[in-house]
Amino acid sequence: MAGVADDFGRARRRMVVEHVLERGISDPAVLEAMARVPRHLFVEEALEPRAYGDWSLPIGFGQTISHPFTVALLVAALDLRSGDRVLEVGTGSGYQAAVLGQLAANVLSIERVSGLAARARRNLDRARIYNVAVRVGDGTLGWRGEAPFDAVIVAAGGPEIPRPLVEQLAPGGRLVVPVGRTDEQVLVRVTAGSTGPVTEVLGDCRFVPLVGRFGFGA
Ligand code: SAM
Repeated sequence: MAGVADDFGRARRRMVVEHVLERGISDPAVLEAMARVPRHLFVEEALEPRAYGDWSLPIGFGQTISHPFTVALLVAALDLRSGDRVLEVGTGSGYQAAVLGQLAANVLSIERVSGLAARARRNLDRARIYNVAVRVGDGTLGWRGEAPFDAVIVAAGGPEIPRPLVEQLAPGGRLVVPVGRTDEQVLVRVTAGSTGPVTEVLGDCRFVPLVGRFGFGA
């Protein structure tokens, strides 16, 4: 479990109230998880003072750590329970995986950029979060050997719902994925119902491109 006593405690509480709760995400478990995870440990040292603002920040390799609100929106849409096993596609800095790790039993995260996966592992260790496994690969294919998952979360936007991710959902499992063009998408939730997958559109969103076999071409 991440520690709470650090120099950024006040900034973190302000982030949770102003950028998450006051913008409409009120799930207490999600708020508490974000109040616990030291987000500044997931950005480079020079950016630490900006870690709790209402923005995304560069993490290298042309990628970003998502806005606090975006992380809260995606995570809340998964409706996690404490025993859940979660697959994350797009580890990035490891921050969202750390938040998921507060809410679920295990998180398996796939990142296509090996340099980012290595940094994410280091960040997670510094934050003392040990129920997240990180692997390098094309997350649009899922993680067949570890399936099924109670929840799957995709932190990049692709042209379609990756079929393997739907197939790897456990009964009742939820997949949250941005789908659309490279510059704008809608956030889609697919629930594995007893009569087949049920798809809902949750709203507009904007993510970096999902690159891979069931994403935009590599
Ligand atoms: N959730 C991350 C965080 O908390 O820092 C931010 C994720 S960033 C917005 C999107 C990430 O998805 C990038 O690191 C990118 O390299 C990764 N990505 C894009 N396509 C991917 C794929 N097919 N498989 C795995 N990762 C992918």
